[in-house]
Amino acid sequence: MSIRDNKLIKILAYKCPRCGLESAFEKQTGISIFAIPRMKKQCSNCQFRFIKEPGFYYGAMYVSYALTISEAIITFLIAQQFYETTFDPRIIGVISIVIVILMWYNYKLSRMVWLNLFKNHQF
Ligand SMILES: [Zn+2]
Repeated sequence: MSIRDNKLIKILAYKCPRCGLESAFEKQTGISIFAIPRMKKQCSNCQFRFIKEPGFYYGAMYVSYALTISEAIITFLIAQQFYETTFDPRIIGVISIVIVILMWYNYKLSRMVWLNLFKNHQF
């Protein structure tokens, strides 16, 4: 069993759930911080379809929500150590910045989790 067969690594590296060889996202060029990551239609290696049906990835919003809330809680717990009061309003600013920085990471990761949950479904 190679490292490519590890499901978690495939998800974190945005690789094809079936073969693990190709990225599910188009390669971004230039300044891509504000560009929405584009997903490929299918894997060129094993023909696995990344886009199952229109609206398939709406459900990934639930995954994205869970990721964002988890990151916000972790950020809060870390940021809290640097302020004197338990809840300093400036922590909201710190959390906002972290959420914006992780925005596209969450977008891609939530789609990969969603795709891996339903990869064997026939649409
Ligand atoms: Zn593939």
